[in-house]
Amino acid sequence: MSRRRLVYEGKAKILYEGPEPGTLIQYFKDDATAFNAQKKGTISGKGVLNNRISEHIFTLLGTIGIPTHFIRRLNMREQLIRQVEIVPIEVVVRNVAAGTLSTRLGIEEGTQLPRTIIEYYYKDDALNDPMIADEHIAAFGWATREEMDDIADMAIRVNDFLCGLFAGIGIRLVDFKLEFGRLWENDFARIILADEISPDGCRLWDMTTNEKLDKDRFRRDLGGEAEAYQEVARRLGLLKEGEPNAVLDMAEHRQKRGK
Ligand code: 5GP
Repeated sequence: MSRRRLVYEGKAKILYEGPEPGTLIQYFKDDATAFNAQKKGTISGKGVLNNRISEHIFTLLGTIGIPTHFIRRLNMREQLIRQVEIVPIEVVVRNVAAGTLSTRLGIEEGTQLPRTIIEYYYKDDALNDPMIADEHIAAFGWATREEMDDIADMAIRVNDFLCGLFAGIGIRLVDFKLEFGRLWENDFARIILADEISPDGCRLWDMTTNEKLDKDRFRRDLGGEAEAYQEVARRLGLLKEGEPNAVLDMAEHRQKRGK
């Protein structure tokens, strides 16, 4: 690991140079931060679980035709991804009022929204990721109108798919954050889904008890964050029964099922 070139270190992940041009290795850390890194900690085993959960979701999204940066999982904490130019916008999709939407607009947490809402935030730690409008994105050239159309279309498709996926395992998808990147092919850039989809960037509530199964357990000092992430992985079918910390290897899984 020490011989690899570090390309970027974020709060929860590290990017290393990949084995081939145009690829990177995404390493998932156990580090957790909240409120623009004012609160710091670790969630034991989070990196392993997020690597596996994100692999599972990105693979499923690929099968419904959403282009993503994911190539394959390499080991417990690493996945091989396509190198993209990250669009400096966090795309938040909301189905139920929670978090900053509830605070900003005074809508009680848990209120079903009359329709899905997409919000954009400018990715800038120094500015605390301010909320922005389409007009800012166009005016400052952070993405073209065509790119934003693709991003909004994909965000809605991802939301529809994930709402169903999570509903099937008794989880309400309250809201989540997506990031997109430009994949350059000669002089042409295509927008693809990047980053990760995991309990770090989603609000996931148990459908019957409303228990939080996501990073809000850490943000709000509720405790049990590792167990919550494990519960999400377990319900997605990614953990071996009786081995709560083991992350299932798909090859082994197929072998067991005789396929
Ligand atoms: P809120 O704006 O209510 O804080 O967050 C909305 C949703 O987007 C939540 O699911 C939250 O996890 C996710 N989100 C927003 N900004 C970030 C971020 O900078 N990092 C992560 N991991 N998730 C974020």
